[in-house]
Amino acid sequence: MPDETTKRPATLTELARLLMTLDDLLVSCMRCGFCQSVCPVYGATFREADVTRGKIALLEDLAHELTADADSVNDRLNRCLLCGSCESNCPSGVNVMDIFLRARAIVTGYRGLGAVKKLVFRFILPRPRLFGALLRLSSVFQWPFLTKASEKADAYRAPVLNPWLGRRHIPSLPSRSFQSETGDLDEPAGAGPKAALFPGCVPDKLFPKLSAATLKVLRRHGVSVFYPAELVCCGIPALASGDRRAFRELVELNLKALSRSKFDWLVTPCATCASNIKENWRRFRDDFGPEQRALIEEIHGKTLDVTAFVVRVLKVDLPPAAGERRVTYHDPCHLKKSLGVSAEPRAILKSLPGFKFVEMPEADRCCGNGGSFNLFHYNLSKEIGQRKRDNIKSVNPEVVATSCPACIMQLKDMVSQNQDDMAVKHVIELYADSL
Ligand code: SF4
Ligand code: SF4
Repeated sequence: MPDETTKRPATLTELARLLMTLDDLLVSCMRCGFCQSVCPVYGATFREADVTRGKIALLEDLAHELTADADSVNDRLNRCLLCGSCESNCPSGVNVMDIFLRARAIVTGYRGLGAVKKLVFRFILPRPRLFGALLRLSSVFQWPFLTKASEKADAYRAPVLNPWLGRRHIPSLPSRSFQSETGDLDEPAGAGPKAALFPGCVPDKLFPKLSAATLKVLRRHGVSVFYPAELVCCGIPALASGDRRAFRELVELNLKALSRSKFDWLVTPCATCASNIKENWRRFRDDFGPEQRALIEEIHGKTLDVTAFVVRVLKVDLPPAAGERRVTYHDPCHLKKSLGVSAEPRAILKSLPGFKFVEMPEADRCCGNGGSFNLFHYNLSKEIGQRKRDNIKSVNPEVVATSCPACIMQLKDMVSQNQDDMAVKHVIELYADSL
């Protein structure tokens, strides 16, 4: 059988087989258009080509479209945040994420992967030490380029880098990653559960304080921690770019690291990692050997976002608090729509001493980050983000909390650009501060 993960479809027969697999998934779409009302990209552009129904129409004639203009197909498919809003609201139960991820792999297999993505996905991400060293080096030389834009949101302008950064307000790079600070941990099992800590690239390399807060919470609640220092990226950037080969290699490295010890749960402060590990590792399990498939299945049942872990597994007593500092919450798509976690972070926020929880309008509408979507479609990402910021501002909070580091980056950018006097925090950082 041809291997979708390692090579381009070499023959038309092979391409036809991949397209037929996709066709089987497309038939369940009834063209009702209900996805229009929930799609953040459509909500900004009002273009039928940008919503699921339009993309499905494109995919139905993919063979012809690919041979006519593969780059245009790629552009149209990538005008999507992979937020899952369409899938979670589809009355016909169309497996949209499955369709989009498989379609992206077919298109990338056909037209090939760009040199930069190849370098990042296949050479840098699988080497955490090299990745860390490159960021450390950048952190040394970053200061002449950065000007503080927002004290509270802790965001910077980088005018010299505008041609590449597109006027984004960004966080600064820390001098040390969580991985280099903490090293390898494998604490003996105690009276409480044992958890494998999977920080994810952004909490490890960009927001090490978030990873440290997660570790603090686990330890304060008697959890033994297994943290293999050789963990790598969960693979979602490669998968979203259609690079199933790099995705498989990254998952294999993580499986090898995680198989070094026994653990009851896999806990992460990153909603996107939680969703990718739980859903996509399993979705593409046929790319792996039998032992790895068994481990993927086991990990599927053990993976939880840290807020769900605190509430569901640790069953921490969270009596409602009544304070003055207003805090609101943004639902990351990969947490609420993919994994059904939304009550747990709110329960934690409502219990924080000194805080008063206020619900914002459209709390579960996508913030517009979408990983590589933000990189390649910044103006559109910003327009979607502005609607989120306006919803946040309407309840006038002192802090906006969320549970995904990618959302944190987008929210920092938005509140900083709007000069809002507001901090952006992960729920678990606020909770760790209260302990
Ligand atoms: S994806 Fe679902 S909601 Fe969208 S047009 Fe198809 S059936 Fe309707
Ligand atoms: S995944 Fe999100 S951005 Fe993409 S088509 Fe569906 S609703 Fe729109």
